[in-house]
Amino acid sequence: MGRSYLFECSKCGYRAKVSGRAERGLNFAVQTVLCRDCKQLFDAVTRLRVPDTGKEQGFGLRLQNVLSPARPLTTPPNFEAVLNRLPFKGVRHYKWIRFKPQCPVSNYHRVEDWNAPAKCPRCGVFMEQSAIPFRLWE
Ligand SMILES: [Zn+2]
Ligand SMILES: [Zn+2]
Repeated sequence: MGRSYLFECSKCGYRAKVSGRAERGLNFAVQTVLCRDCKQLFDAVTRLRVPDTGKEQGFGLRLQNVLSPARPLTTPPNFEAVLNRLPFKGVRHYKWIRFKPQCPVSNYHRVEDWNAPAKCPRCGVFMEQSAIPFRLWE
């Protein structure tokens, strides 16, 4: 079970709804990252559980259709996409694929892991974490 928290900066008011660390659920794992170019926090999808059909090409096409048709496979899906993904039906074998954490806006952006307690990407003061998770996900 993964948890997302609301992080808030008391100085500049920046807010983000992220895990604030590495989290993993049943079907995917995330790592919260700070993008130096966007000056934002994101939950980057680092691992994704997909049906293992034994056929790489067919599997690739199917995965692309499930997630988002326009994205090449080297780009990880974004957090919302995997969260809203429908469960696979009739799949017996799964495997995990890994992604390098990257910014959902552009994979040329420079990102680094962000593990709470940590600083605001805008102004550099420590961000406050909500006591209660904003969202739970599987
Ligand atoms: Zn701030
Ligand atoms: Zn970025």
